[in-house]
Amino acid sequence: MQISNRMDLLQPSPTIAITNLGRRLKEEGNDVISLSAGEPDFNTPKKVIEAAHEAALNGQTKYSATPGILPLREAIKDKMKRDNNLDYSVDEIFVGAGAKQVLFNIFFAILNPGDEVIIPSPYWVSYGDQVKFAEGVPVIAETTSETDYKLTPEILDQYVTDKTKALVLNSPNNPTGAVYSKEELQRLADYLDETDIIIVSDEIYEVLVYEGAHYSIAQMSEKMKQNTIVVNGVSKSYAMTGWRIGFACGDKELIKAMSKLQSQSVSNVTTPAQYAALKAYELDNSYLKEYNETFKKRRDHAYSQLQKLPYIKCAKPNGAFYLFPDVSELVEKCNFESVDQFTEQLLKEQYVALVPGSAFGIPSNLRFSYALSEEKFSEAIERIQTFVNKYLNK
Ligand code: PMP
Ligand code: GLU
Repeated sequence: MQISNRMDLLQPSPTIAITNLGRRLKEEGNDVISLSAGEPDFNTPKKVIEAAHEAALNGQTKYSATPGILPLREAIKDKMKRDNNLDYSVDEIFVGAGAKQVLFNIFFAILNPGDEVIIPSPYWVSYGDQVKFAEGVPVIAETTSETDYKLTPEILDQYVTDKTKALVLNSPNNPTGAVYSKEELQRLADYLDETDIIIVSDEIYEVLVYEGAHYSIAQMSEKMKQNTIVVNGVSKSYAMTGWRIGFACGDKELIKAMSKLQSQSVSNVTTPAQYAALKAYELDNSYLKEYNETFKKRRDHAYSQLQKLPYIKCAKPNGAFYLFPDVSELVEKCNFESVDQFTEQLLKEQYVALVPGSAFGIPSNLRFSYALSEEKFSEAIERIQTFVNKYLNK
């Protein structure tokens, strides 16, 4: 069969590909430790699962409103007011099949062919491909470890042209774990206030900030609120990656356009899953507090474990559940040609799965996810030490 040329614009998601490979090796009987998965290891809260079950038994098994069931959009409205001090009406809220599909709808709804979208690197793997698929042009704005891989107005200014339509911001960040402070966002907002650039603010790791607080650029000024589309969801905050519920808040006309696209694609997100998400937003705060504390402990543990590896450089991240060290010196001393090759051989010999930095636009680095038990993380580091010692002494 002849596949469309359009499909050549996409590559398979590298994070999903490596996670699937690790899963397959495990199913074949190998003792794989996956530090590649960007998902919490524990189960969805019981009350949330029960709510989906109950909704289904009560007949919530039919098509539902295209942009999401009203009670869920109302719960999101309350959440945005409570946690972010942002006021949205329910027709400024859209529910999609995970933050990933929400982003997909956003890019299709805002981009004309040739429109440029600035994506700071390192970046999460799907932004660029989604932009290309929507006939936009991803413009990668390079950041460095000097600014903790965060975008500044000075860096941004080098990439803005009269074709710039949008900017993607992601805080807390995947893959670096960096969190933008209020001051850093305010400086970006002061620059962006003078433009009509749409800001796509991916805040999916909002609840995983360990020191200080999470801020959205939409909070920085009235203009920023108007020009920003906030993306968030329950995947990372309530261990609900498989339920596929994400949302966006922003301009009414944009939400309408995204809903039009939804009406011709998935119609609506799985109805009982929306009731599950509704329950998640109704849980009392102790759930998120404990969740955050667990991950903070894991962050401290993972960061100290990482110090056992020689020749690496890593800033201590303040959010999400990733470490993103520069491993180029280590890889060179082990006589590998690239971090990609090192990562591949490590998986083959020691069954430790990691995502190389090339997937995120920084080939010198390696992403470690610590969304798994401390014991498993320590064991993975031991295996990497064995692997590294073998190649250092060769
Ligand atoms: N944005 C970022 C930065 C992510 O890491 C992920 C992880 N999958 C997503 C969006 C997509 O989230 P979801 O699982 O809700 O589609
Ligand atoms: N966001 C996660 C990751 O980066 C999950 C996989 C994906 O959706 O790409 O690993």
